[in-house]
Amino acid sequence: MHTSALVLFSGGQDSTTCLALALSKYERVETIAFDYRQRHSVELEARLRVLEQIKLQFPQWAHKLGDDHMLDLGVLGQVSETSLTRDVAFKMESSGLPNTFVPGRNLLFLTLAAALAYRRDLQVMVTGVCETDFSGYPDCRDDTMKAMQLALSLGMDKRFLIETPLMWIDKADTWALTHTLGGQKLVELVIEHTHTCYLGDRSHRHTWGYGCGTCPACDLRKKGYEKWIRAAA
Ligand code: ZN
Repeated sequence: MHTSALVLFSGGQDSTTCLALALSKYERVETIAFDYRQRHSVELEARLRVLEQIKLQFPQWAHKLGDDHMLDLGVLGQVSETSLTRDVAFKMESSGLPNTFVPGRNLLFLTLAAALAYRRDLQVMVTGVCETDFSGYPDCRDDTMKAMQLALSLGMDKRFLIETPLMWIDKADTWALTHTLGGQKLVELVIEHTHTCYLGDRSHRHTWGYGCGTCPACDLRKKGYEKWIRAAA
């Protein structure tokens, strides 16, 4: 029986939904994020705001929410040429991956998360990776997650579970899951406080939240929201 979890929590819509899911299932939940000198500190600010709002608005979850951990991964800057870490515009590469892609980044995240989970005696790692919507990040695929679960469990001699609640659902289903977990109050929290936009835009407020409205991340969030609203009507 699993009772504790570590959520890979970036402050975006997906990881906020994963956090709500973990808080609804487990007795003790901690959060982890990685600072790799993102061009947009808005993401790091968003996650602190979301944690604060969850504690404020969801007393049934507040007492389960434990420590938040921020690991410095500035070293990633040494192996990336991307718009998230250098002053280069966002674009799609010929490989079909956005140039924000840092090869194997998620493998590193999971390895460090597992080391922390080991130290903190947390059994489950929850991550918002998804095969359904665009990206095609190979380090977010279901097979990769299963391989990592096995490698980390063997390599640390501790049985880890990697939970991926969003793996096979689309963005509309993610909004629906948010609603199921925390009602309209949680939907509003996601709209108002989470951050997804690649350009770090917090000056334009749409029905689905803040963002430039045109980058791939905004586009996904917007279309998912509209599809969910249509389906719910
Ligand atoms: Zn955007």
